[in-house]
Amino acid sequence: MKIFMNDKLVDQAEAKVSVFDHGLLYGDGIFEGIRLYDSCVFKLEEHLERLEYSAKAIMLELPWSRQEISDAVCETCRANGLKDGYIRLVVTRGEGSLGLSIKNCDKPQLIIIADKIQLYPQEFYEKGLEIITVPTRRINPAALPPTVKSLNYLNNILAKIEAQHLGYHEAIMLNDQGHVAECTGDNVFVIHKGELITPSASAGALKGITRDTALGISEDLGVPWREANLTRYDIWVAEELFLTGTAAEIIPIVKVDARPIGDGKPGPITAKFLERFRELVSREGTML
Ligand code: PMP
Repeated sequence: MKIFMNDKLVDQAEAKVSVFDHGLLYGDGIFEGIRLYDSCVFKLEEHLERLEYSAKAIMLELPWSRQEISDAVCETCRANGLKDGYIRLVVTRGEGSLGLSIKNCDKPQLIIIADKIQLYPQEFYEKGLEIITVPTRRINPAALPPTVKSLNYLNNILAKIEAQHLGYHEAIMLNDQGHVAECTGDNVFVIHKGELITPSASAGALKGITRDTALGISEDLGVPWREANLTRYDIWVAEELFLTGTAAEIIPIVKVDARPIGDGKPGPITAKFLERFRELVSREGTML
């Protein structure tokens, strides 16, 4: 496999970072997960814009233009002969000294990996997924805004460990007020009385690209949507529930904390969202 490192493609065996890289030492860096569908990169501009916002928020100056990164993403996919896949774009603070200071890190490190996607089994989309809420709270936005897609994922990993320990694939994370923030790698959507409701960024949700796509679909389908605080109760009594994420796409949830959602089967509105999503990804995107 070929990996893009800073300014060129290298063989996987040569794609190495320094042990003094602050991405490794401190999780000091940012990333994007992007999908490639049928030789088109889905929502590439949106991902690169979010990367730029994340960079700005952590005061990491990107020495590459958006066009250069965009070209590098496409080049990496082409070099690996990929038509469908998952692209991981990482920018670390770069090599520095052992201290926390960013002053000694003078060159960020760009890494682009394009690989085949490990799809969730098709039955998850047909039968829906059962998930739980976990004790680990989503980090307070005042401590580290979850809107920054940083390399600091330990909070999410702790929640994932709790879910997997109990035999579940995903976990709903609440914020410190007890409102739903998001899942460990997906945004949460509820359908209640014909309305689509999702937590806001201030509740601790990442501004997901798939989340935005779902909100657009909502408008196309004439389903009203709004952002609101959601409690566990709101989740339990929802008529339908689904998660969105680049890797998961749109996935129906049929049980939360042992309570069936709706009639315990993927709901009809969710099915429409999923169908429309599949249509969109098959006709939109940046051609390689
Ligand atoms: N929340 C978290 C914590 C995530 O890691 C992801 C995956 N990037 C999402 C939500 C969904 O965002 P997107 O639709 O941009 O993949």
